[in-house]
Amino acid sequence: MSHVFPRHCHADLPTAVAGAGCYLIDRDGRRYFDGSGGAAVSCLGHGDPAITEAIKDQLDKLAFAHTGFFTSEPAEALADLLIAHAPLGIDRVYFTSGGSEATEAAIKLARQYFVERGQPQRRHLIARRQSYHGNTLGALAAGGNEWRRAQFGPLLIEVSHIAPCYEYRERREGESPEAYGLRAAQELEDEILRLGPDTVMAFIAEPVVGATAGAVPAVAGYFRRIREICDRHGVLLILDEVMCGMGRTGHLFACEHDGISPDILCIAKGLGAGYQPIGAMLCSGQIYDTIAGGSGFFQHGHTYIGHPVATAAGLAVVGAILERELIPRVQRLGAQLDAALHGRFAQHPHVGDIRGRGLFRGIELVADRETRAPLDPALKTAAKLKAAAFEAGLICYPMAGTIDGRRGDHILLAPPFVMDDSQISEITDRLATAMEAVLGPQAARAPA
Ligand code: PLP
Repeated sequence: MSHVFPRHCHADLPTAVAGAGCYLIDRDGRRYFDGSGGAAVSCLGHGDPAITEAIKDQLDKLAFAHTGFFTSEPAEALADLLIAHAPLGIDRVYFTSGGSEATEAAIKLARQYFVERGQPQRRHLIARRQSYHGNTLGALAAGGNEWRRAQFGPLLIEVSHIAPCYEYRERREGESPEAYGLRAAQELEDEILRLGPDTVMAFIAEPVVGATAGAVPAVAGYFRRIREICDRHGVLLILDEVMCGMGRTGHLFACEHDGISPDILCIAKGLGAGYQPIGAMLCSGQIYDTIAGGSGFFQHGHTYIGHPVATAAGLAVVGAILERELIPRVQRLGAQLDAALHGRFAQHPHVGDIRGRGLFRGIELVADRETRAPLDPALKTAAKLKAAAFEAGLICYPMAGTIDGRRGDHILLAPPFVMDDSQISEITDRLATAMEAVLGPQAARAPA
């Protein structure tokens, strides 16, 4: 027995010993198709020699130099590369070791920005229900995942939560998607007005909601209106692209699809593609200049920010995404995956919605397609599906989210960008096997 403290104390997890392309391999030689890239991490698959080479090269040169004393060549090069492709106005990159650290830094930067601008009364953060921004206390407070927050409530800073843009559940009958988007965005303005516009510092949202809802994009026009509302009230817009960024949705930055630029942008998972732990918080030149021209010091920092080996890995990963033209590939494969999921599961009696962008796809499960009632939480469908898919040799990311205060189940798929066309049916076949095992023989079979 090992002395590792696992997240699931009683789960008997296999030991992963190798990775090759889209597969992870355990100690017994079993191969698992990484259909969710872990948690939307492994965008380049496993064992990519160009990335491991870049890491080894950097280790040979310099493993670590504390950012209190030095910057480093890979950190500078990666920041420049990201900014060359970043949304308009984004000008600076602050590296972190992961996603929670990036959103935590974003919240603190928003606060410090207003303190330095002489507006210390701006302290309110607004976020959305059914969102996840990380597990550290600030990020957890921002997130609206009730299950993750539950026992830590007394420790969390106060954050207002408004409704997410969740077309499948919240668009009214007869309402156009555009009208719904504007109505959903109006909740932000209502909340800003309720709190007092000059007390609000920032609004944080995921452009495509990941873990808590299963790849839910906003309807067209929603984020444009959100941007307008933030601008009208001088509120910073923080976009959390930790899961959906770095090409996952078919754009390097997910917000490109919505045609807007945030003031602060968080990325992580796909940035290191699992080869190194790395995230980043990007911000506008205006925010940076305020700090640089004020105290000159961002009152934040962790020992491993801007780690040379992590940034060397990030540089190689982003370089590979761009040079290998993986973004058009994500768009093409994403459309194929979407069509295959619809073809296979759209008529399934427990499939309510199939959605997403690029290679970021979600399936929402329901007890009844007509009423859209979630499955009974006591059935633990998400957990059973995860286990059944694993048994069938597929890693996918089923989650029990929260819908109107009740648990609802969904499956998240985020396969590597390097998969090929033939592997799409490997995902749908194995998923169908898992669905049949858990939800019964009515699970959709391969179309004749
Ligand atoms: N933000 C989003 C949207 C995420 O999906 C996650 C992780 O799933 C995080 C933040 C936290 O990232 P990390 O687990 O790297 O701390």
